[in-house]
Amino acid sequence: MPLDKYRAKRDFTKTPEPKGAPRPTKARQRLFCVQKHLASHLHYDFRLEHGGVLLSWAVPKGPSLDPTVRRLAMHVEDHPLEYGTFEGVIPEGYGAGIVLLWDEGSWEPEVDDVDAALKKGDLKFRLNGYKLKGSWVLVRTRGADGRSWLLIKHRDEWAGPVDVTEFAQSVKSGGDFADILAGDRPDVWTSNRPARGGEAGALLERIIEQALALKTERTTRNEEPKRPARTAKATPRAAAKATATPRKKTAPSPSKRRAPATKRQRD
Ligand code: MN
Repeated sequence: MPLDKYRAKRDFTKTPEPKGAPRPTKARQRLFCVQKHLASHLHYDFRLEHGGVLLSWAVPKGPSLDPTVRRLAMHVEDHPLEYGTFEGVIPEGYGAGIVLLWDEGSWEPEVDDVDAALKKGDLKFRLNGYKLKGSWVLVRTRGADGRSWLLIKHRDEWAGPVDVTEFAQSVKSGGDFADILAGDRPDVWTSNRPARGGEAGALLERIIEQALALKTERTTRNEEPKRPARTAKATPRAAAKATATPRKKTAPSPSKRRAPATKRQRD
């Protein structure tokens, strides 16, 4: 059954993640999303809607807009469609940590038969998100377990030397990991210590420290004057596109997206 693996890994009395049900893909746009997931290891979960679920790959380094860069993408269990809008704190259990909705939009296959492409291990597609756009490919590698794929940007007007992971903010709340934690778990945030002890508590504590470290790192960087090293590497055209990208979509409005995490709407 679809989603069996997804459900087997989770205790839905303890996680805020959706239980979900497969939903047929009707005559509408296919969803895609990328969730930045601060768990035991920071990674980006890349998800494409197909066959009523979200096909999912965990990308440790996140997507790259540079066509010469191949990013490892580990194929993981299908997720329910509802997961595509999920953002929040998973306090314990599988995937414990913080999930940030890093990008979302629609995707279209650049092949006639998605199932055949998946079976072959070569899926070409177009993304239309806030941060990721244009043509991409997922290629399965010859690894023994068949779970290793590579996510590669095709050369087009959306490719470029900009490090897109520098755009760290959520497309849902406008916040970062620390903001999401503060909004979801003010108790944990104010004491800066998990309410519960034991292994889960220690993990969450480590994650809080990481969220703070990432925030400090970014704040420090943003406070500095423009670094020539970073702007010089980026072509003006690509840089303009990368910054212009979020404004090209109609909804949600920039004001809503930048609303403080504490005031954000929950789905
Ligand atoms: Mn994950």
